[in-house]
Amino acid sequence: MTTEALDKLTTNIADVPCIGHRHADAFRRLGIRCVADLVLHLPQRYEHELPEQTIAAASEQISPLHGADANITLRGEIASLRWIPARRPRMEATLQDDTGAVKLIWFNSPWLREKIHPGLTVLVWGRAKRHGDLVQMVNPRWEAYDPDQPIVPRPQRHRPIYPASEELPSRTIERAVESVLDTALAQLDDHLHDEYRKARALPTLAEAYRMVHRPADADEPVSARRRLAFDELLLLQLAVMLKRRHRREAQRAVALKHNDAINAHITARFPFELTGSQSAVIHEIAADLQSTIPMNRLLQGDVGAGKTVVALYGLLMAVASGHQAALMAPTELLAEQHDASISQMLTGARVSIELLTGSQTLPQRREILARLESGQIDILIGTHALLTEIVQFKSLALAVIDEQHRFGVHQRARLRSKGNDPTTIPHTLVMTATPIPRTLSLTVFGDLDISTIRGLPPGRKPITTRITDQSKAEEVYQQVAERLNTAEQAFIVVPMIDESGRGLKDVNTHLEWLAGGFLRGRRLAAMHGRLDRDEREQIMSRFRAGEIDALVCTTVIEVGVDVPNASIMVIEHAERFGLAQLHQLRGRIGRASRHSLCVLLGDPTTKEAEARLKAIASTSDGFEIAEKDLEIRGPGELFGARQSGLAPFRVAQLPRDLDLLQMARRDAKDWIASNPTLGGQRDALLRRRLLKAHGQALGLGDVA
Ligand code: ADP
Ligand code: MG
Repeated sequence: MTTEALDKLTTNIADVPCIGHRHADAFRRLGIRCVADLVLHLPQRYEHELPEQTIAAASEQISPLHGADANITLRGEIASLRWIPARRPRMEATLQDDTGAVKLIWFNSPWLREKIHPGLTVLVWGRAKRHGDLVQMVNPRWEAYDPDQPIVPRPQRHRPIYPASEELPSRTIERAVESVLDTALAQLDDHLHDEYRKARALPTLAEAYRMVHRPADADEPVSARRRLAFDELLLLQLAVMLKRRHRREAQRAVALKHNDAINAHITARFPFELTGSQSAVIHEIAADLQSTIPMNRLLQGDVGAGKTVVALYGLLMAVASGHQAALMAPTELLAEQHDASISQMLTGARVSIELLTGSQTLPQRREILARLESGQIDILIGTHALLTEIVQFKSLALAVIDEQHRFGVHQRARLRSKGNDPTTIPHTLVMTATPIPRTLSLTVFGDLDISTIRGLPPGRKPITTRITDQSKAEEVYQQVAERLNTAEQAFIVVPMIDESGRGLKDVNTHLEWLAGGFLRGRRLAAMHGRLDRDEREQIMSRFRAGEIDALVCTTVIEVGVDVPNASIMVIEHAERFGLAQLHQLRGRIGRASRHSLCVLLGDPTTKEAEARLKAIASTSDGFEIAEKDLEIRGPGELFGARQSGLAPFRVAQLPRDLDLLQMARRDAKDWIASNPTLGGQRDALLRRRLLKAHGQALGLGDVA
């Protein structure tokens, strides 16, 4: 690419003659700053404009026999004109040519009185319908022409319709694109070489952009989009694999010891038999941890599937090898619970466990950090507090991140840098109870190896989920009261902490209402994110010990809280919660051997909310729910895409483009195998575009 050519693609939009400074701001507001942006601004659809016809031919086409309306283009003279100031004021005109006449009607366009007059020669186009004998066009588009000039009949074409704004109609964008397209395309170098492209029947990049902006037929935009979507998928796959290769070849982790004795030692600490699925997953993790290739593994398993012991297994492998391990959770409540349950399993063992959270006093934290740095602490459990600058391990071999969707990529990367030895990085295990639909796991999480715990530990009874509306609330609480009589416990979830004036139930008012009515005489407690740690801990442990019958709470209990005796949950305003969130909430119950009940009290006002409630009631399988979530919300909103910090796709769409994704994956793999760093002249442009697109989000800086 020459400098001069680069000038053209990067030319400021204000310097494009047909845009000028007058419209430049409007273009900028659509994100279009230079010529290249203009070419990247893709049409959202096309209008099929037919070639000009005579009025007779058009009338024939829209015959009553066919009964159809059609898009037509006519050329003729305005023979008569009438302004009708009725309830719906309109302009009516007759257009005629040598073969016949049609009626034109424009509603709500009084200014046309200034513009159209009898005798004017015009080209009109739009949809036409038959009304009795007469063909009629409503609100057709038109332009005047000079009958004395030689007439060039308008050809048929597929006219691009661009995402536009009120100040910037598609037509203006079209004109701007058209004015730069040829020069821009001439400078567009392709990062895919000919041989590769041809083998996959992909057009060149320039050809693809030509076809998308100026298609010769209806099929061209489809082939163009295929190429552009494939590019996006291929670049992402290459980036992810480049990163993966870098991690495997250029970075080192500590290889941990593992043998039968260690295995027996660790499993002896678990108060139950591992399920087959847990054992299989532990096997995968143990294999990774014995290597100097840093593990980068995602552990997915439904709420209550038993991920904690799997994590603990890894933590203890680190300790058995004389190193340290960290477990990071998104909330204090969860970190505290991990601390409590792990400490309990390790009672009497010579393993030193410590909890680090933001609500500890500074002297407390200093003392912990000093012991951490000198290696006296084996396992550190905590919240985001683990990420602060001053936290330094002596020898961090494994970092586990629970409920990873609550953290961003950068936070995960930060925890990885906490070791004291600059030549190694810790193995990483991230855990999630929000299963990732397969299609997404192939893209965004292509850098992670995935382990899955299927099913739940034995002895769980399925949860019955019921949807009811507010009018049945009293019956529902009656039933809750009855179940509390048999020493069961309940969660009652509301959306707000305080009275909000928005007609939503809040913890305090609802608790008072229940205490004075259906749950009179029961031991009730409030639980929400604004209580301080001690209070929360105290309430939680009393609830766990059965000293509290029902918790009225916000979604603070969403993640990970484990109270086996709780078997009833009521969720107020259930329509306000997301599908994954409802599933997580519901996962708090059903851990008892008794039959659990979840009641969703909701009055869904949107189709989407209704679909969510239906979905949650129809299955308790988290994997199925994740797929449904993808269906209802579309991939854009799922945590994978958003939290990864990766640029969203412009053209590719999943799961629609799954076949392209598979092709991109296969190709990327071969590509990296044959040119591991994408070095050399041939791949230089590809490499540059890849780094530009994903370098930052994937932290590829150190790769380049
Ligand atoms: P999650 O995967 O949601 O983090 P947890 O690790 O909190 O699930 O486990 C949920 C509950 O199941 C805990 O009470 C745990 O002790 C119990 N549990 C885990 N594995 C087993 C097992 N193999 N057999 C019986 N109970 C188990
Ligand atoms: Mg958990």
